[in-house]
Amino acid sequence: MHEMSLCESILDILKEQAERDQFSRVKRVRVDIGPLSCVDPEALQFGFDVVMKGSLAEGAALEISRPPAEALCLSCFKTVPVRERFDSCPECGSDALQVTSGEELKLRELEVV
Ligand SMILES: [Zn+2]
Repeated sequence: MHEMSLCESILDILKEQAERDQFSRVKRVRVDIGPLSCVDPEALQFGFDVVMKGSLAEGAALEISRPPAEALCLSCFKTVPVRERFDSCPECGSDALQVTSGEELKLRELEVV
């Protein structure tokens, strides 16, 4: 289950930031999950609670947003929203889409004490 290792990377980032910004507790973590990232939000939530236990973010709330993915159409050169990896261009119908965002998990915001 790779959500578990994602949560461990989130914890690493939290620890680094805590050292840099001198906070000791994390209250809320906001993440963006790209719709093409294959991350299961429920599994992420579950992994988060397990991984954060005993850490500076124990009991922290995890807020998950799912912004739409974007792709660049290589036929009409427009940036278009996509829901699936193999969608075709809504503007011109071409299949030559290059996904530019939506594959990543981003740590967007922290609320700390
Ligand atoms: Zn197009």
